[in-house]
Amino acid sequence: MRIDPHTHSVCSDGTDSPAELMARAAGSGIDVVGLTDHDTMAGWDEAASAVPVTGVTLLRGTEISCAADGITLHLLSYLHRGDDQALSEAFAHARTSRDTRAQRMVERLSEDYPITWEDVIVQSSGAHTIGRPHIADALVAAGSFPDRDAAFAGPLATGSPYYVIHWALDPVEACRLVRAAGGVPVAAHPRASSRQRRLVPDAVLAEMAEAGLAALEMNHRDQTPEQREQVRVLARRLGLGLSGASDYHGAGKPNRLGENLMPPELLERIVDEGVLDLVTP
Ligand code: AMP
Ligand code: FE
Ligand code: FE
Ligand code: ZN
Repeated sequence: MRIDPHTHSVCSDGTDSPAELMARAAGSGIDVVGLTDHDTMAGWDEAASAVPVTGVTLLRGTEISCAADGITLHLLSYLHRGDDQALSEAFAHARTSRDTRAQRMVERLSEDYPITWEDVIVQSSGAHTIGRPHIADALVAAGSFPDRDAAFAGPLATGSPYYVIHWALDPVEACRLVRAAGGVPVAAHPRASSRQRRLVPDAVLAEMAEAGLAALEMNHRDQTPEQREQVRVLARRLGLGLSGASDYHGAGKPNRLGENLMPPELLERIVDEGVLDLVTP
């Protein structure tokens, strides 16, 4: 069974609609797809409608923006109640803060690059959650950079003077909220140092484990073989499972569907512990 449990649609910073994503997964020979847009559940219904058409099983999830002492961490939540009030409020708060932050970044960028907030709105049409990738798309459309990657290597980098932080949940609190909402939390790419210079320390992941964390994402293209080994050792020490995923974003990133997979045993455990079911054909 081929399970790719971490992907994005146009509801956040991917470029496929949820239905297109499901169709592409079928074409890539994937049996189960996890739709995990950043800080939103907006794509779940459309993806679920595509299940009977594509024959691909849907694992409903969300990738939650977290930060501990200013260090960001992404937490995947699976099979949580879509109408949970505390989680919905946290996601809404993160999205609002992301909007304000993106506007501030555009203000700073507009002093040196030919972009406006309207350009970003155009690039993010249909998105519930705005992120740096949409600003990257506006910079590409303006001719300042050839692709998202080049914009991220330049003014959108985490350490750049144009960078602005946004509000994000504490990751330990996020694990508690996810469990309270009947969901199963998994830390996304916890040792991907290519994304940012500082990574959350092992101690925070240990606290998350106590708060209900189920697994760590090990096989992910942003983690080197050495970093994957660190994740494996840490998971064993903390009694956590191991996951893998493509983190597919459509045309915006080179990540290909199914390039890394979740072991079927972990999916079984997530289905056992999660309050929602898989959406099956
Ligand atoms: P944000 O959450 O707004 O801070 O932006 C981070 C998002 O940008 C991540 O979720 C990644 O999907 C995306 N991202 C990071 N680096 C790149 C890159 N080099 N090219 C395209 N997207 C990227
Ligand atoms: Fe993303
Ligand atoms: Fe992520
Ligand atoms: Zn992701």
